[in-house]
This record gives sequence, structure tokens and C-alpha cells, in this order.
Amino acid sequence: MKKIAILGSTGSIGTQALDVVRAHPNELQVSVIAANSNDELLEKQIDEFKPELAVLSDESAYQRLKSRLKNHTETKLECGRTSFIEAAAYDGVEIVVTSMLGFAGLEPTLKAIDAGKDIALANKETLVVAGEIVMKRAAERGVQILPVDSEHGAFFQCLQGEDRKSIKKLLLTASGGPFRGKTRDDLKDVTIEQVLSHPTWNMGKKITVDSATLVNKGLEVIEAKHLYNVEYEQIQVVVHPQSIVHSMVEFCDNSIIAQLASTDMRLPIQYALTYPKRMASPTASLDFWSMQNLTFEKPDIDTFKGLKFAYQAGKTGGTSPCVFNAANEVAVHAFLSGKIKFLDIYNVIEETMSRQAVIHNPNLETLINEDLRARSIADSLVKV
Ligand code: MG
Repeated sequence: MKKIAILGSTGSIGTQALDVVRAHPNELQVSVIAANSNDELLEKQIDEFKPELAVLSDESAYQRLKSRLKNHTETKLECGRTSFIEAAAYDGVEIVVTSMLGFAGLEPTLKAIDAGKDIALANKETLVVAGEIVMKRAAERGVQILPVDSEHGAFFQCLQGEDRKSIKKLLLTASGGPFRGKTRDDLKDVTIEQVLSHPTWNMGKKITVDSATLVNKGLEVIEAKHLYNVEYEQIQVVVHPQSIVHSMVEFCDNSIIAQLASTDMRLPIQYALTYPKRMASPTASLDFWSMQNLTFEKPDIDTFKGLKFAYQAGKTGGTSPCVFNAANEVAVHAFLSGKIKFLDIYNVIEETMSRQAVIHNPNLETLINEDLRARSIADSLVKV
């Protein structure tokens, strides 16, 4: 029985991770669940999975749940950011699913690594912001970073039994999002609802906006660079609207291995949790007769500048990816609150990156400070 912790258990990845646990009750056991403020869903999860520890970051959500859980004895309920971070190091847990949102995922992930837990990494911002620090610490502690992101999970599967030195290229597939083929002019007045209707994947709001701007693909490029220790020139984004090929690896002999499956996040989550074992999965089998054609095209990085900014930030290195990510988090939040338009997301990122000097070889403290500085610059831009 593998004991797991799910940080961000009420979000899209968290609930799907619990689905995987539900399908394999003899293999996986949830010891810890932690969420930000969704006390109602957390309560249901406590009732069903009976974890040893449950944490809510938000104080008022915690108070609400505590009053309802009065007679509950099996699960210890804790509150606050510090408890959330501490939960990552919970005794007896073997693997931590990091499915919390954004930069806030960094500290708990490092805490889990320091405690020797394997990581089922769904919080890509952790590697974007602090890839060098995270990968180095994981190597020192002998901790495995198992990717949950479908593309990186695909690379991971394609690379089983292969010498990483024989990688020529990582071919990172992208659906292209809901606005593939559109011009900047078409995108001037798109609504939040249009942005949130993704053609192939059903995901949380932040990542769905990131998919529409191609910032998500940009974050994934940086994530792939750190996970597989390749150069940026070796990562090529390929738009593949059907989202059947989840990514491919080209080797030095020009042979390409691809991973294909239905668009269901439970598959990469499960592989990360049961690795190296493969097990039956709730993911639907692919029906080749229903796939008329699989197409591949070049990304339009002049319209969807998220990808261009990410390569720039990644190649510049130092605090640049951290600033890129912080500016994007602020801009997406402002867009979802109706404060700025869709294309303004790019302006906020570009302007924030141009105003903030890059610091090379940052330590964790520098990254935390630079993240805050970038947020205040971006905040001032979305308030205008
Ligand atoms: Mg992805």
C-alpha cells in the first residue's frame, strides 16, 4: 500500500488523483489532503477517504468545517499556510501530489523533497521558477520527480529504458487552445467564457486561460528543460489540435517515439503514482477507426506571444522565468476578474519583464523577493 498526500485536493488535478485512488484501493491510500478554502468538498473527501490529516489554508473555511466535524475522530484537521507546508512532510507518506496553484506550490514542494518524499509534480510553476534549485535538491535527496503534466508524462514514458544522452529533441505537443488560427484582431474582444471553453481538455480556470495564451505551453517548455536537462534549442512545440499524441521524443538516430492516449488526466496521474507499475485505468481506450486524421502544425508565436516570452525568459535564465510567471499569474487573475482584456495579458507580461532587472543564480530568498516585486509591478499595470 502506497501512502500519498494530495496538496490541492479540491482542484481539477486533486479530484482526478482521488479518482485514481478510488480505482486502486488496494494499492493507494490517501494519508493527507490539503486545500485552500473549499471546505465543502474537503469535507466530502474526508468522509470518503478518511485521511489521517486534512488541512485548509483559509482560516474562515477551517472554522466552518471544524464546527461541522465536531464528532470526527479519525482525521486531524489543521489550518493555515504553515500547516499546509508542513503537510508536505507528513510522516509515512511516500509520494506527494503537488496540485496546488502557481508560485505558492514552491515551498511545500521543497518541504516534501527535503523530507525525502517522491513528488508527483502537477505544479509546473515550481520548476519554472526554481528549476535548478528543485532538481538539485531532489538529486541530493534521491527523490524522484514524476511528471503529472500530460506532455511531460508522455516524455517520461517515451524515455523508459532509453539513455537520456541519446535525446535529440523533445517534441512538445500543444492543442493550440480555443483560438488556434485566429489573428490578433480576432482576439481583441474575446470574452472570459470564450477563453474558458477549451476544445479538448477540461481543466481549472488558470490553466485554461494559460492554454489560450500559449503561456501554458511556454511554462511547459521551461518545465521540460529542467526535467530532462536538455537545451532550449532541443525543445520544439508542435501544434496538434486533436490532443491524441501527448508528446514525442526524437532520438539521435532520428527515430521518434510518441505516447498516445485519450485526453484524460487520470492516466498521467496514475502512471506517476504507480510507477514503475502499469495498472488498469479508467481512461477510455483509443478507437483508431474514429480518428479520421491527426494533424500537426507550427505554432503562431507572433499572435500567441506566451510561447515567445517563455523561450526568452528561459534562455535568459536567473530570475527571468520567475518574473515571467509572476506577471502572468497577476495578469490572468486580472483578466478573470474583468479588469483587463485578453491581449493585455501579453502587455502585462512584456512590460513587467522589461522593467525588472534579471538576477543570475538566485537563491530561494531572492526568488521569493523577485516574485513579490514582479507582482507589484504587474499589479500597478493592471490597475491603470
Ligand atoms: Mg500540459
